[in-house]
Order: sequence, then C-alpha cells, then structure tokens
Amino acid sequence: MLASKIIIPVPKIENRKFTKPLLCGPGPCDVWPSVAEALNKPILSPMCDEYFNLMADIRDSLKYLFQTKSKLVLAISGSGHSAMEATITNLIGPNETMLIATRGIWDERALNIAQRHNIKAIPFRIPFNTTFSYEHIEAELKKWKPTALFVTHGDSSTGTVQKLDGLGELCHKYGALLIVDTVVSIGGVPFLMDEWGVDAVYTSTQKVLSGPAGISPVAFSERAEEKMNNRKHQPPFYLDIKLLAQQWNCYGNTRAYHHTLCSPMLWALLQCLQEINKRTLPKFWKTHADVVGHFHKRLRQYGFNFLVPKAEDRLATVTTVVLPQGYDYLKFVKYMRENYNILIFGGLGPTAGKALRIGIMGVNATIEVADAVADGMAGTLKALTKSYN
Ligand code: PMP
Repeated sequence: MLASKIIIPVPKIENRKFTKPLLCGPGPCDVWPSVAEALNKPILSPMCDEYFNLMADIRDSLKYLFQTKSKLVLAISGSGHSAMEATITNLIGPNETMLIATRGIWDERALNIAQRHNIKAIPFRIPFNTTFSYEHIEAELKKWKPTALFVTHGDSSTGTVQKLDGLGELCHKYGALLIVDTVVSIGGVPFLMDEWGVDAVYTSTQKVLSGPAGISPVAFSERAEEKMNNRKHQPPFYLDIKLLAQQWNCYGNTRAYHHTLCSPMLWALLQCLQEINKRTLPKFWKTHADVVGHFHKRLRQYGFNFLVPKAEDRLATVTTVVLPQGYDYLKFVKYMRENYNILIFGGLGPTAGKALRIGIMGVNATIEVADAVADGMAGTLKALTKSYN
C-alpha cells in the first residue's frame, strides 16, 4: 500500500448554499425543463446505431435552424469560441486575408484567433452602438480583396443586430466568403443561410436554444466546402471540419471515429432543437419581437435610455441600457441579484462601464419574465443613490 505516500489529504468541500437566479444576462440563459431531462439520458458509445441516429436527427434540425440545404452541417464539441476558431481556421490559411467588420468584442476575438494562426486579419471599425452600411463594407471588400469577411449578426456586447440580407452576394462579387457569428441571434431573430448567401455560420446552445454551453452547431456552403477541399494548410486536428464531417456522416457514407462526443450534450442539443421545431422559426422570431417590444415599452415608461440609438439596429435577444449619469453599473447588477434574484450583466468589451446588458430569450422569452425584469430594474433605480454627479 502506498497510503503513506499520500501528501495531499482529501479536501473538505463545503456544502454551499445556492439559489438559482433567473438568468437574464446575455447568456447563458435558463434551460428548457425538457432539456434538463435530456441531460440525464444514457451515455452512448460513439460507434453505435443510436448514436448515429441521434446525430442524423440533430443534423436535420440544424438544417432547419440555419435554413440551409447544405450537407456540411454538424456540431463542434465546445462552447461558441470553439466553433469560431473552427470556422476561421478551416477556411482561411496563413497569409490569407480575413476582413473583420468590427463593432463588438466577438469581432475582436475573431481578430485574436486569426492572428494566432498567422492569418492577415484586417479589422475595420464603426462606433459600437451602430451597424455597418453595405456601401462601407463594399469599399473595404474592394480595397482588401480578402479570402473572407467576418461579421457578427447579433452582438451581445453591444446589443446590435447587423443586417445580412444580400451580403453574401456582395462578398462573392469580390471573391470573398462570408462568415457569420449567430451565437446570440439564431432562433430569436430571422437568419436565412442559403437565401442570404452565407458561406459559414456558427452558433451555440446557451442562448436562444436554451441549453447548456458545450456543443456548437456550424454549417458551410458548397463554396466554403470547395475552399476547404483545396486548402494547403492544416487546421487544428480537434477542429478539422473535414474529419468531423466523416464522424457526423455528412455525406451519408462514413461513420468514422474522431473523438468521443458527450452524449448527454447530444441528447440536450436535439431537445433544444425540438423545442424550436415545435414552435417553428417564424413563430419564435415573432415571440421574441413581441416580448422585447413589451420590455422596451416598460423600460421607456421608467425613463431608461437605450445604448443603441436606432430602433432597427437593436437586437431582440439582448437589450443594452444606459443608466442616468452618476449610477454605478456593477452596483445595479448586484442589487438586482440580491433583491430580485435576477441576473443581468454590466457591459463587456467596448461597453464595459457604459451599459447594462439584459437578455430575454429562448425559454425566458415571455411577457412574465419581461415584466419581472422591468419591475426589478425600476425598483433598483429607485433604491440606488447616485455614486457621483
Ligand atoms: N459570439 C457571441 C455573439 C456571443 O454572445 C458569445 C458568448 N457570449 C460568443 C460568441 C462566445 O461563446 P462562448 O462563451 O459560448 O464560447
């Protein structure tokens, strides 16, 4: 026995009290009860029929979610950042150019990832509470002739939504692929991959899909697939879409082992998608529009101001609010948690110290939740005193 060699004793783990708050930040969001149940379903071996059927059902629902007829649709093991890294590194090689339409933190993250892979990343910036005009994007495409343009659809750091209709065509005119981050937008606002000519899109589960973070759907157009088939560089092994496509049986003739996926996450993802399938996308988009319309009306009644000046630029899933001069954002967030048990967030990246970020999406996209948050915010504003003038 080696008991005498044990140098680290068994740790004493405190039985900590935890009261679950209502999750109304920009993510993670609360999960559907059916998804919490699905997480208890059995572990499967990655090479059995049940497992492949589960993947096939997920792929069918992802085609619906992204609105694409593409075959190259699957999910990456990891949170949204893993899908961001997979998408960029599978499509763009060292010394190729990625143009980044930059208005929030996710575009800065894309820049960071690209630079780590020796991609020539070129950000072009606008004020963070606005969105891009196609004239501006076209001028940059013309100037740089990039391999791809990176755009964030819904930006959870700023509360803006970028128009995308027709953007694919514009990119293709200049020989560029269009990559879109839909982590906080998909399911809550319209997104049409094929119709809008999007070449690569990724999303995540912990926002409108209302599941746990840890598995991230991606889809690639035929144009993107061709680019990958002709690439000279090797993306990271774990994120290699060509290998993952074999594991996910994207072409109907491979059932290859690449890595061990977390089967409870697969069950959970399918259940998230089923919750959207049963509501249908157009109805769920409308639910989000109605709920946020009601929420904003209530916020206006209490005198709150929006960070994003133009109503058409405001993202339905995440609202950014500016407090009257002199109020402390972090104190506001703390008061909401301690007195109403509602979790909202302060700013992030360019909005740090400049805004509150409130997410009402997925399972929480209801008038009741919107009212509870608006009541809490009104009460908090009344209770707090100014920290400075
Ligand atoms: N993109 C957007 C728009 C996001 O909101 C987030 C997460 N807040 C991410 C990417 C990164 O996702 P994750 O934290 O799941 O890695």
